[in-house]
Amino acid sequence: MSRSPDAVVVGSGPNGLAAAVTLARAGLVVDVFEGAEEPGGGCRSSELTQPGFTHDICSAVHPLAAASPFFLGANLAGRGVRLLYPKVAFAHPLDGGRAAAAAGSVEETAASLGPDGPRYRRLVGPLVRDADDIVPELLAPLRSVPSHPVRMARFGLQGLQPVAAIAGRFETDEGKAILAGAAAHAMLPLNTPLTGGIGLLFTLLAHSAGWPVAEGGSGAITAALVRQLEELGGTVTTACTINDLDELPHARAILLDISPRSFAGIAGDRLPRRHARGLERFRYGSGACKVDFALDGPVPWQAEPCQQAGTVHVAGTLAEVAAAESEVAAGRHPERPYCLIAQPGVVDQTRAPAGKQTLWAYCHVPSGSDVNMADRIEAQIERFAPGFRDLILARSVMTALDMQRHNPNYVGGDINCGAATLRQTVFRPSVRWNEYRTALPGVYLCSAATPPGGGVHGMCGMGAANAALADLGLSGQGR
Ligand SMILES: Cc1cc2nc3c(=O)[nH]c(=O)nc-3n(C[C@H](O)[C@H](O)[C@H](O)COP(=O)(O)OP(=O)(O)OC[C@H]3O[C@@H](n4cnc5c(N)ncnc54)[C@H](O)[C@@H]3O)c2cc1C
Repeated sequence: MSRSPDAVVVGSGPNGLAAAVTLARAGLVVDVFEGAEEPGGGCRSSELTQPGFTHDICSAVHPLAAASPFFLGANLAGRGVRLLYPKVAFAHPLDGGRAAAAAGSVEETAASLGPDGPRYRRLVGPLVRDADDIVPELLAPLRSVPSHPVRMARFGLQGLQPVAAIAGRFETDEGKAILAGAAAHAMLPLNTPLTGGIGLLFTLLAHSAGWPVAEGGSGAITAALVRQLEELGGTVTTACTINDLDELPHARAILLDISPRSFAGIAGDRLPRRHARGLERFRYGSGACKVDFALDGPVPWQAEPCQQAGTVHVAGTLAEVAAAESEVAAGRHPERPYCLIAQPGVVDQTRAPAGKQTLWAYCHVPSGSDVNMADRIEAQIERFAPGFRDLILARSVMTALDMQRHNPNYVGGDINCGAATLRQTVFRPSVRWNEYRTALPGVYLCSAATPPGGGVHGMCGMGAANAALADLGLSGQGR
């Protein structure tokens, strides 16, 4: 730590790196300190199962990166990142070889939904038309004055509702499942306000930005951000966990890509009691149990759209998704969990040896769970893809507790670093005038515990960096 930086960043997840790049672009000398052996946090790839099989350890599918103002300004393509777009953004199998699928345009998807087509077109069509205006607003603090109030109000009228109410208006299992599957990413019971908004955001992104994977693995995105930072004179030091703010070199701004709980720990007595209490009240969400598979071939889905989908939501009907998520919220492990499956091999041949495939899967579990859900996840996939189990060459399992050991930001295995409740969507992490500033002058939080929350979009980092630059009398990057 002999260098004398203008700004330091603790943590090199997508938000830490986005903060560092935003500060460096404004002319600051920036040093990043990362506790893990390699940079990237939730955006890394590794041979988790067998040599030659590259798995995404955490994030795999990037609709948020594809739509994010930070990433759109980061010229990932110019730094060698190829985002590959599956023909079907996401599919949702149902018993009897049926499936719903978000693929191509709103019109194409509506046409596949039979009697629910017109309803889908009326609900999703206007949002997709307004996507360039509303998505940047949704990826910014929701307390800022919207630049497109009418369009945001149209989104908000639907989005504030629980997805169970919106999906319940559809007639067919397919129509109901398509929104339920997208909304269940929220890790909340489907009768919770705002789950409609999360489902609609992910569904509209299927038709606007797309649901791509990164060629070679999500780690390619991290490598590009690190390269950009280094080109701008910044550094990343790995295997360097910060346990106290005093361990950091003196700097004009300190940005922390860490959880509110870790912040309270490393700030210690410096934090005013009121602020510390606000951070203690921050609620973490349910956990996730993840399984990575090396497969002898593609998953033999019965329903054809699933064979071409980058992402598959596996649980069955709206009622089954709702039951699984309610069980988790009640602190139980569902026998038939809602599973998120990514199959990058549908577009990326680099992930596995010829003829083989990788498969990425996780399901939601109660916070802090150490239950291995691999058998239940396999049973759910087998239900819609008979013969799947025979293809398994190897698997690697991370329970929710393993997730927290792997990355302290995932408290109790919460992969979004904070529940997406109504309160925490508006005030994240606590009630403050600016969400990124802390009570300590010059110290900012920039992790997914700040707006807009979880996902690989870098917008928490960019927002925090812009707050720091404003305090230094410098200007940052616009939304
Ligand atoms: C299993 C899983 C699947 C996911 N799937 C997707 C997906 O498909 N698409 C998507 O968009 N998002 C996905 N996510 C969510 C996404 O990965 C996270 O929301 C995102 O990585 C958050 O970025 P961040 O920079 O805030 O934090 P993180 O990526 O968690 O990075 C925080 C970094 O800070 C470091 N750190 C923490 N404390 C300290 C300390 N005291 N000292 C030094 N370093 C420290 C950590 O080691 C870590 O590297 C997934 C996450 C998981 C776990």
